[in-house]
Order: sequence, then C-alpha cells, then structure tokens
Amino acid sequence: MAKDQKWLCQNETCKALLGYVDEDMSQVRIKYKDLYVTVEGGRIVLICRHCAKVNELTDQDYLNYIQELRRKQPKTEAEKGK
Ligand SMILES: [Zn+2]
Repeated sequence: MAKDQKWLCQNETCKALLGYVDEDMSQVRIKYKDLYVTVEGGRIVLICRHCAKVNELTDQDYLNYIQELRRKQPKTEAEKGK
C-alpha cells in the first residue's frame, strides 16, 4: 500500500481526494464514510462530491479488450434477420 498514488479530482480548483490507485494502476480504492470499494480493471467514472466534476479512470488493457471483442463480434441480431 505504500506506493499508492492519490487519485485527485481533475478540477484544478478542487483537487479533492477521490481514491487511491496502486502502483501498476490495476487496483483503485475508493472510501467514503462506511463505504469501501476496490475496483480492478475497466473504466471508472466518479462524480466529485465537492464540485460535481465527472472524473474518469480508464484501464488501457480494458480498452484493448473491448476493441478486440467488438472486432470479433458477429453482426447484431437485427442485422442477421435481414
Ligand atoms: Zn472536485
């Protein structure tokens, strides 16, 4: 836990602490009162509690995975029926 980086609000005038990201960006920890969430991989969108700015963290591996999935996927059901 020692090398965790702070995930701060992207609003320059706010910079509220949103959570912690571990060294290799694989895990994000978000704590609020008695709520504690850890996320591994994917995309996280969090609205700042202080200024309401929408903050986003995206895992590049996840983006690659989604891109690959869409490329492989056959046409949608509607298109198949035609
Ligand atoms: Zn903020």
